[in-house]
Amino acid sequence: MSLLVVGSVALDSVETPFGARDNALGGSATYFSAAASLLTEVGVVGVIGDDFPIEELAFLRDRRVRLEGLEKVSGRTFRWKGKYGFDLNSAQTLDTQLNVFETFDPKLDEWARKADRIFLGNIDPELQLRVLDQVQNPKLVAADTMNFWISGKRAKLLELLKRVDVLLVNDGEARQLSGEANVLKAARAIAKMGPKYVVVKRGEYGALLLHGAETFHAPAFPLADVLDPTGAGDTFAGGFLGLLDRLNTTDVGALKQALVMGSTLASFTVEQFSMDRLRELSMVEVMARFGSFRALTHFDDLDAIS
Ligand code: AMP
Repeated sequence: MSLLVVGSVALDSVETPFGARDNALGGSATYFSAAASLLTEVGVVGVIGDDFPIEELAFLRDRRVRLEGLEKVSGRTFRWKGKYGFDLNSAQTLDTQLNVFETFDPKLDEWARKADRIFLGNIDPELQLRVLDQVQNPKLVAADTMNFWISGKRAKLLELLKRVDVLLVNDGEARQLSGEANVLKAARAIAKMGPKYVVVKRGEYGALLLHGAETFHAPAFPLADVLDPTGAGDTFAGGFLGLLDRLNTTDVGALKQALVMGSTLASFTVEQFSMDRLRELSMVEVMARFGSFRALTHFDDLDAIS
């Protein structure tokens, strides 16, 4: 199976109540591929500038991530600057510099065009559409977006939503996109815009999956030490789609496992700044935490006392 991601490969400057990092490795495609590559074959489409420290991506190569679609052009790499308060669920964006993304025109090679599953990471919806125009009959197309594009490129985003199977957004984005305050109502309203499956990522409150009349909820793994939530959403998406690609199905059971895999992987990302935890992560650790998730959420029916 194969999974293509298009998204940002970035240098992030992040401040949380527990520390700060400048120009650390980040970006939606980077977090996504670091997570998904633990589960399946992943290829990246994106762009970096000539200031990008390419050795930072060596660990992705070690995980056999295809980086042939990562173009290097002259100019500055995409940069994002954000800050979190004690409520680590929402980032305050201090600065977004699109830089080389402003003129990026994604061109997919043969492998990328034939990928089984596609993740259109958080970038300009016009670029997401251009990628979609080049793929050949994928089994599943998923997309992410954020407030920056919901307010800045709404019409293009709505055009995109008609062509995706899964939209993954956080609760703030779901509310902004739908105009509904209640998350369930928001997910239902988004489903009417096109996607068959809507996943709402709710930070420390877990994630919700809506599929037709069915809903499923996975909690977030309870952690005492969260240092930096940056990338949790993209890591979640990497775990979710990575597992669906590995299992090669979207039946309801697999979707539920994928939601828990997303939560499992995201729980590692937030334990350290930038990609520090994901970089070293092994499948043995992932499977152990996936198992803890089951233990944490399993309970017996009350038939025994009826
Ligand atoms: P999240 O998983 O939602 O925490 O996403 C974090 C990543 O999104 C960061 O590493 C940023 O580099 C990246 N990012 C932030 N804003 C944008 C944007 N407007 N376009 C593309 N990527 C972005």
